[in-house]
Amino acid sequence: MHNRGPRRVGGCLEEIIFLSALDKPVLIIGGGVAGLAAALELDRRGLASLVVEKGPNLGGQARGFCCKALEVCARCGACRVGDLLQQAAQRPALGALTQALAVAAQRQGAGWEVTLIPQEGPKPTSPALALERPLGERLLVQTGAVILAVGHQVFDARKKSRLGYGRVPGVMTAGELEETLAKGGLPGQARRLAFVQCVGSRDQALGRLYCSRVCCGFALRLARLARYLEPGSEVTFFHMDVQDYGQAWRAELAEMRAGMRFIRAIPGEVRPGAGGPLAVFAGPDGQPQEEEFDLVVLATGLEPPVAAPALSEMFGLTPGAEGFLTGGQGVLVAGSAGGPRSIAESIESAAQAAASAAEHLVSGQAPSPEVAHA
Ligand SMILES: Cc1cc2nc3c(=O)[nH]c(=O)nc-3n(C[C@H](O)[C@H](O)[C@H](O)COP(=O)(O)OP(=O)(O)OC[C@H]3O[C@@H](n4cnc5c(N)ncnc54)[C@H](O)[C@@H]3O)c2cc1C
Ligand code: SF4
Ligand code: SF4
Repeated sequence: MHNRGPRRVGGCLEEIIFLSALDKPVLIIGGGVAGLAAALELDRRGLASLVVEKGPNLGGQARGFCCKALEVCARCGACRVGDLLQQAAQRPALGALTQALAVAAQRQGAGWEVTLIPQEGPKPTSPALALERPLGERLLVQTGAVILAVGHQVFDARKKSRLGYGRVPGVMTAGELEETLAKGGLPGQARRLAFVQCVGSRDQALGRLYCSRVCCGFALRLARLARYLEPGSEVTFFHMDVQDYGQAWRAELAEMRAGMRFIRAIPGEVRPGAGGPLAVFAGPDGQPQEEEFDLVVLATGLEPPVAAPALSEMFGLTPGAEGFLTGGQGVLVAGSAGGPRSIAESIESAAQAAASAAEHLVSGQAPSPEVAHA
């Protein structure tokens, strides 16, 4: 499997190890739902691919989401991650390198030569995945097309310091509440819950005018789950407006409106109260109101991926609107790396990216794909 050979890189003769089995036409950077869905779609089209994931596990951010079903499925999309991982593990043509990072790329005809290096880090927590392989040393991959599926980062709530995150006890993010609910219930004696929407999105002061699209559904499903697990709890939902996810969602939303209090205002400040965080917001008459809660939950939105500037430079891409990634010749973008997308939308965009990569390969301009050798 392993071959060794000398190669001139950047003027220096250095020895590299390459894996002769890795003759993949498409290199997919990022192993979340979008990267996995792109690999599976390519496989369906008879094209092999190599997924390169910087972390120890495949599945991306959605692999940490819990099931939000009460008696019936809440259609949150989280279980699609497990489905994709299972399908991927059964496809021997799919290759994946975890704890590996693309650090350089050079054009090779219509394709690319990409340099990968291993990353230090924790061991994978899902050793059952047959397709994971550690990268031993630097690896040069020649590939006909690249799919960037590096996802998004979550807005850091500390940047909205007036909302008290990290400063006022009882203020947490929706992601943190999810972790707590996944363990079985609300923290301590918390029963009065406030959800604050659009934290880090639709915010002129931050220069972030876009809607993150997924956080209304995420927060409301969490609120409903919290009330189900702790029937006595009361939910107040501070919002500008609520995302529309289609007909089935509208029916659910009507039910949720009946069981929770919806206030069309975003608190300007959250400060410590006598018995919990105190939210300050504009009342219906425009006058400031104050109300105390046990928990204030901030619905943090999606930001462009950390890797966007480096990857744009590496592949000569024009930075996209709001800092998300855009594609180029032989470079496709999938999932939330290209803008705020749900799991289902990320999978759909990955299928489109895979189809475009396949078209690029058959256009006759791409070189025959292979891993670099001496
Ligand atoms: C708070 C919150 C709640 C959400 N709730 C929902 C919900 O309920 N339902 C829903 O449908 N969607 C939800 N989403 C959106 C969902 O998280 C995304 O749709 C999904 O994660 C997108 O998948 P992805 O593969 O594009 O990106 P990611 O999940 O971010 O995966 C990207 C992968 O790429 C890897 N990576 C990053 N940079 C590099 C690099 N340079 N080299 C190699 N690998 C790299 C990362 O480690 C990661 O594994 C939510 C998002 C947030 C922030
Ligand atoms: S879609 Fe979400 S709520 Fe429905 S079963 Fe899957 S994880 Fe549970
Ligand atoms: S999805 Fe909802 S909470 Fe998120 S930015 Fe859009 S409107 Fe705000």
